Amino acid sequence: MNVSVKPSKLIKGATGDWEVVIGLEVHAQVTSNSKLFSGASTEFGGEPNSHVSLVDAAMPGMLPVINEACIRQAVRTGLGLNAQINLRSVFDRKNYFYPDLPQGYQISQYKSPIVGEGEVVVELADGETVTVGIERLHLEQDAGKSLHDQSPTLSFVDLNRSGVALMEIVSKPDIRSSEQAKAYVTKMRSILRYLGTCDGDMEKGSLRADVNVSVRKPGGPLGTRCEIKNMNSISFIGDAIEYEARRQVHILEDGGVIDQETRLYDPNKGETRSMRSKEEAHDYRYFPDPDLLPLEFDTAYVDALKTHLPELPDEKKARFMRDFSLSAYDAGVLVAERETADYFEAVAKGRDAKLAANWVINELFGRLNKEGKDITSSPVSPDQLGSLVELIADGTISGKIAKDLFEIVWSEGGDPRAIVEQRGMKQ
Ligand code: ADP
Ligand code: MG
Repeated sequence: MNVSVKPSKLIKGATGDWEVVIGLEVHAQVTSNSKLFSGASTEFGGEPNSHVSLVDAAMPGMLPVINEACIRQAVRTGLGLNAQINLRSVFDRKNYFYPDLPQGYQISQYKSPIVGEGEVVVELADGETVTVGIERLHLEQDAGKSLHDQSPTLSFVDLNRSGVALMEIVSKPDIRSSEQAKAYVTKMRSILRYLGTCDGDMEKGSLRADVNVSVRKPGGPLGTRCEIKNMNSISFIGDAIEYEARRQVHILEDGGVIDQETRLYDPNKGETRSMRSKEEAHDYRYFPDPDLLPLEFDTAYVDALKTHLPELPDEKKARFMRDFSLSAYDAGVLVAERETADYFEAVAKGRDAKLAANWVINELFGRLNKEGKDITSSPVSPDQLGSLVELIADGTISGKIAKDLFEIVWSEGGDPRAIVEQRGMKQ
């Protein structure tokens, strides 16, 4: 896809403007009780090596058994990304050595992933809309974790995460700025949370991204990319892209070439640095896992999952704009998290929806932010805010008095209508 780029997004170099090209590989931990090929628990934060079956520890002769719940989640995610669902897919072994990978290979999908091409619509703060193509979504096992900071002379391995199901969601190189990349990850997380297929918790590592960055003269051929591994913060993703794109521009303008390599971002220094030269697919000696049959299901299975998908952010936004006459911006803010959208709907139902949106977005969000709370722990319930909105709409109180009333309800609780009566707040 060729999106035209606003001049403000271009990097000014000594030899003219440069365009940044970005593609992301998002790793999303599948929400499921047990692992992709074993019955061990996926619970976060257990004692090291307490959620490890013989399969996860790769004992000789153990056989993987596919967890149907994970398949369902991958298909549902594919549907949520408006993507092609492949009725037949294949699990492959991706061979490499790592101390926290006892099998000596990762079971992944290579040539035949469970989900093919799709797309995600991303809205930016300035109202710009970008459609980012999805290349594929495949299922794979997570590895264990090496712990190097527990002892001065020893390293430890925790296999609790070994074998947990991940979805790798690969975008096309359709992203053209750090802002777009941040908005893309935010939107992806929102879709996954609505679907309930990944909790999106980046601090716990449930959602992380490899960020591929290259630069080129606007409209020219694609440049060589560098891949920044394992990013687990949206704002760091933005910072890393800004740094990396400028690093590449400097090299190219000095007459150098970009080596395709894997890099790491150091948030303390605000820099990326080289980790290793890029590995190629053939380095992994992929081959179909002989322990697993190809994965096959029929259209009826997919259709049944499709029927039961929840309303997703884009549809909800369109509905809010249509039914409540909200602006695209307000509707977008309200649907970003399902909990917020539900709260708003409860306030707006049968009331002045625009007024309700204003109060939720400006007063309530402002106050929640100030206190570091989220909507699920709001001291003001949708019912209470709804009554307050009614009191303004029917002229009982002014907007100014309503702010005092909001403060009272926030800190003391109570029925807004009764408070207005008791304290003589009518205008
Ligand atoms: P690998 O696992 O080797 O990194 P993938 O196909 O899984 O390969 O992912 C490649 C990622 O790099 C995709 O997200 C793709 O959009 C992105 N990409 C490919 N070419 C470029 C480029 N020239 N500049 C920036 N990103 C790119
Ligand atoms: Mg990659």
